[in-house]
Amino acid sequence: MKFVAEALGLSESAARKLEERSILRKAVINHPFFQDIINAYALEKKFGGYEDGTFVAKTVNGLEVVRGYPKIRRALTLYPTLKKHFSGEVALEEKMNGYNVRILQFGRRIYAVTRRGFVCPYTTEKARIIFDTDFFRDNPELMLCCEGVGEESPFVPKPVYGKKIDFYVFDIREKRTNKPLSIEDKSKTAEEYGLKLAPVLQIVDAEHAHEAVADEIKKLGKKGREGVVVKDVNMKQPPVKYTTSQSNCADLSYAFRYFNEYAKDFMISRIVREAFQSLEFGDDSEAFKNRCLRLGESILRSMVESIEDVKRRGRVAEKMRLRFYNLDVFELFREHIRRMGVDARFSEPVEEDGYVVFMERPMMSTSDKIASLLKGGFW
Ligand code: ATP
Ligand code: MG
Repeated sequence: MKFVAEALGLSESAARKLEERSILRKAVINHPFFQDIINAYALEKKFGGYEDGTFVAKTVNGLEVVRGYPKIRRALTLYPTLKKHFSGEVALEEKMNGYNVRILQFGRRIYAVTRRGFVCPYTTEKARIIFDTDFFRDNPELMLCCEGVGEESPFVPKPVYGKKIDFYVFDIREKRTNKPLSIEDKSKTAEEYGLKLAPVLQIVDAEHAHEAVADEIKKLGKKGREGVVVKDVNMKQPPVKYTTSQSNCADLSYAFRYFNEYAKDFMISRIVREAFQSLEFGDDSEAFKNRCLRLGESILRSMVESIEDVKRRGRVAEKMRLRFYNLDVFELFREHIRRMGVDARFSEPVEEDGYVVFMERPMMSTSDKIASLLKGGFW
């Protein structure tokens, strides 16, 4: 672990504090698939100026520090929040609904690091197919901050983005400092290297951003998309996110399906978003009724389905379809999931454009709660 203190430039006492507070966690599995990384750790909490999810590695080419992706604040009202927070021009980008990955090159290969700062075998396998090393050859100090999306996602499966895992770059940053490229430089770079960007929907003046975001949100909602991230074109002010009603409701539907595993705060915050949006969008009586229906249905329907599942099969479980191209990666991914402390079961791989595997996560707390209620227990 000593190289971590060296890489972060910590004093001896700071290094000791880091060890004592046990906020370092091993971030890579030793295996030839990850042969450019000799050892790596993730920061599980913020430390000094380093974000949680910061990844520190000893690689074949020396020490590497990869900063954690910063949190993005959420607006519940577009007006006056955007006008107050931003000045000058802002870019409205589509907020893609998947999981956050930082794509990097160490040694000769591409690596995918998750939000929490772990090298993910599943994502790395897909990233090596999609990204080539030209960008990193020319820009060894940069990382690609991407959303990993698709139905075959082990973390956020969403069929709207297609079946297989795909990556949308939303930021290009200096890995060591987290300094982002401006929107213009990012777009030029993406063009030059053929990188797929999270769509830049509009560039508008901050004064009018609230109207523009409302327009885009209505359109995105109809397409089942998640929302918008508003960014200062020079990336000098922190971005702000805002989501569609359809996405808020999809979250609710998921949370209520597994209502005993999910924090009540997760649910309440999404309901509160709907109230603010309804008022700000000036829902007429029909729009309001639709919103009520959507909200109510997302809550009730999924719970009713869960109760039926427990009645019929004795439990509720989340089931995901995954695809591997190499069975070693499947084994590595099982180990990765185990280390993350996730209880999951895997089906036998079936050969089909690689190997298809089903991952099932039993939701024990919700299953037990429902079973007990069905047997005559009290809430
Ligand atoms: P937070 O980022 O505030 O910790 P979170 O982890 O719950 O929140 P989200 O609510 O999904 O995440 O919002 C932030 C995330 O949105 C980013 O971390 C990133 O993965 C994702 N994202 C998708 N599209 C974009 C985009 N165009 N710009 C920035 N982030 C985006
Ligand atoms: Mg997200």
